[in-house]
Amino acid sequence: MKKTTGQDRSITRNWRPATQAVRGGTWRSEHGETSEALFLSSGYTYDDAATVAARFAGEQDGMTYSRLQNPTVAMLEERIALMEGAEACRTQATGMAAMTAALLCQLSAGDHIVAAKAAFGSCRWLVDSLLPRFGIEGTVIDSRDNAAWEAAIRPNTKVFFYETPANPTMDIVDMTFVNGLARAHGITTVVDNAFCTAALQRPLDFGADVVAYSATKLMDGQGRVLAGAVCGSAEFINDKLLPFQRNTGPNLSPFNAWVVLKGLETLDLRVQRQSQNALEVGRFIESRVPVMLHPGLASHPQYDLARSQMKASGAIFAFVLDGGRDQAWALLDALKLIDISNNIGDSRSLMCHPATSTHHNMGPEGRAAMGVGDGMLRLNVGLEDPQDLIEDLDQALTAAGL
Ligand SMILES: *Cc1c(COP(=O)(O)O)cnc(C)c1O
Repeated sequence: MKKTTGQDRSITRNWRPATQAVRGGTWRSEHGETSEALFLSSGYTYDDAATVAARFAGEQDGMTYSRLQNPTVAMLEERIALMEGAEACRTQATGMAAMTAALLCQLSAGDHIVAAKAAFGSCRWLVDSLLPRFGIEGTVIDSRDNAAWEAAIRPNTKVFFYETPANPTMDIVDMTFVNGLARAHGITTVVDNAFCTAALQRPLDFGADVVAYSATKLMDGQGRVLAGAVCGSAEFINDKLLPFQRNTGPNLSPFNAWVVLKGLETLDLRVQRQSQNALEVGRFIESRVPVMLHPGLASHPQYDLARSQMKASGAIFAFVLDGGRDQAWALLDALKLIDISNNIGDSRSLMCHPATSTHHNMGPEGRAAMGVGDGMLRLNVGLEDPQDLIEDLDQALTAAGL
């Protein structure tokens, strides 16, 4: 195989995740371009009719239609799979398209799912509102409680679904226990790994079956495109996910795949630096607020568990003020550098009030049950100089009476 056009997969497979993030999955055209090519093409042409038949019959490798294959998208899928230590990966248009596909592709009427109570609002909507319409019952539990996972299992339980750390409560799931429990009962675990990415935590190494992503967040990392991904065994991806995806079409556009490919090249650097910055900023805020929820600080009730699973504590954390919504909004409105935004994973620092944004749809009771109060603020720490962020927070905390 020519070095400029392809890579010897028996060698590249063994590279470490940080190398995969830069080079994994690269296929070069005959031009030998350095950076991944962007193939903006919906269809493909064939030299003759027999080639069409051979491709559709699966007897010959090659592209047929971009809902089924696209070279740029395939490069991203191979790269994410290699970083994750997964046999296969498929990408979707958004993180929510990925979550929906990962669940619907394997669940049928009469099945049961156990899901973490603390989760991204739309992930909870899937479990609480969408799946029941198709006869799939859900039980939501406190994901920090190992016994609760066990107690929720029924004979028809097919899937465990959780985030760790959870958005925005920063609850940590004991992955070795929960994934092991699922295995023992023939249950498939689906882990939403948006807060970590493979740079910080690879759920498959802890016995998970499927990892699903919002690649919109840390993977793009610069707030440009929406994207999603599902990783798992070749059997799961080819037999369960692929028939669902090919026929329902939640595909990622080649352009967005290309942007995420470029984002992944700097993922490891960004996530390490943002984690460092978030620790510095977190330590400063902790001295001024009543409740801090940061998995990298010893005050987090699951600090030891977080350390045992995560290589660093991540860019995102939350804290709670006593003065409810008014005080939280006063702090937000006083910010001069940090933007008010409900996005995360960006290289810019962004703060939001989950109760009136990401978790608005849960309603007050839903939020209370999940631990999202009116005084909670969530901060994504970016790549700015942490001292500038601390100075901005200092004046905003003072303006909010703290
Ligand atoms: C943002 C997010 C999602 C949804 O991803 P989109 O790309 O916005 O569709 C799902 N889960 C978590 C944990 C998220 O933070």
